[in-house]
Amino acid sequence: MLQVNGERLWASLMEMAQVGATARGGVRRLALTDEDRRSRDLFSHWCRDAGMSVSVDQVGNVFARRAGLDAEQAPVLIGSHLDTQPEGGRFDGVYGVLAGLELVRALNDAGVTTRKPIDIVSWTNEEGARFTPAMLGSAVFTGATPLAEALAKSDVQGITLADALDSSGYRGMRAATGNTVDAYFEVHIEQGPVLENNGTTIGVVTGGQAIRWLDVTLTGVAAHAGTTPMRYRKDAFFACAQIAAELEQIVEQYAPRGLITIGQVDIPNSSRNTIAGQIAFTVDLRHPDDAQLDAMERDLRGACARVAQARGVNLQVSTYWSSPATPFDPVCVALVAQAVEALGYSHERIVSGAGHDAIHLARHCPSAMVFIPCVDGLSHNEAEDALPDDVTRGANVLLGAVLARAGLIGRSSPGE
Ligand SMILES: [Zn+2]
Repeated sequence: MLQVNGERLWASLMEMAQVGATARGGVRRLALTDEDRRSRDLFSHWCRDAGMSVSVDQVGNVFARRAGLDAEQAPVLIGSHLDTQPEGGRFDGVYGVLAGLELVRALNDAGVTTRKPIDIVSWTNEEGARFTPAMLGSAVFTGATPLAEALAKSDVQGITLADALDSSGYRGMRAATGNTVDAYFEVHIEQGPVLENNGTTIGVVTGGQAIRWLDVTLTGVAAHAGTTPMRYRKDAFFACAQIAAELEQIVEQYAPRGLITIGQVDIPNSSRNTIAGQIAFTVDLRHPDDAQLDAMERDLRGACARVAQARGVNLQVSTYWSSPATPFDPVCVALVAQAVEALGYSHERIVSGAGHDAIHLARHCPSAMVFIPCVDGLSHNEAEDALPDDVTRGANVLLGAVLARAGLIGRSSPGE
């Protein structure tokens, strides 16, 4: 069975990790900064060395093509991203891009031709750390976000995506939208602890979970901390605290797949000796099932209303952003499962907890993902790590699935 060269893949990952390397062993490669440009240059150089043709689209997505026997066929696309969080790790994103490159190198070594072309893509601004929202390059590619809207996004310094593309030299000519893709595959570290805790090597990802972001504002009455008896208070903070405690109980009814997070809490004009007159907080709700997520939101709104009424504070709840559950293509998921089984690795089905470019792609073409464990479930952290064997196995699964989809024609030289 054709397999990748794990040592070569690891060496490329470690070389790429030098681009934007931090003192604590992590990587800082914010989208379209000089570090990101250098990682794109290195990736493009490696792709050309592997005999691929490289092109860049209008939103800076970098594509490399290995021709197939039939140039008329739409490509099987493999990808992920080279940008990182401000204090990111050596595997998030870059693994999916370089696993694609290693797959092509392995095909070259074996002298194998495929019927369909194989394209590798590095998507622009997946992390959303410099420009929001995240997954911007794939959103434009799939038509979820208009190109002009993306180009006008600006970072905290007011630099637009268009300007950043120009100064990095990665504003390409290739049309960003309207591209036909046969199928999309992405391999990624899990970014959570599930595979590692279960002792499983490969996660066969069945889709992305539904996500809903709510904004909640509680308005009470600001008053003097020393002169206002407790029973006369309309304290927004304690109302928020009670709601938080109730939400933690509510989510237990949706265990283990329901998730609730209060990520930001803001008390405007907060002061040590003033009762909080107002508090605003965000809620992130997740569940693999849309109907269950709706039910969670209903329960949440009910708890907020009850607490607000009992405490005499005013309540406002609004939906900031919502993304439905996104199942991956059953045929592509089956190709991943068949590849794992042929290789004999332990595996389980898993839903992606995080957002990925593959979620956008799944609404555009048949798509699937492969997860490997990451050490201690850590990601978006400089200590992010993965075991070399797992890195190799994930790339082998990717190879098996992609070859099945792209159509293996044969090889000009025998042996593997
Ligand atoms: Zn990622």
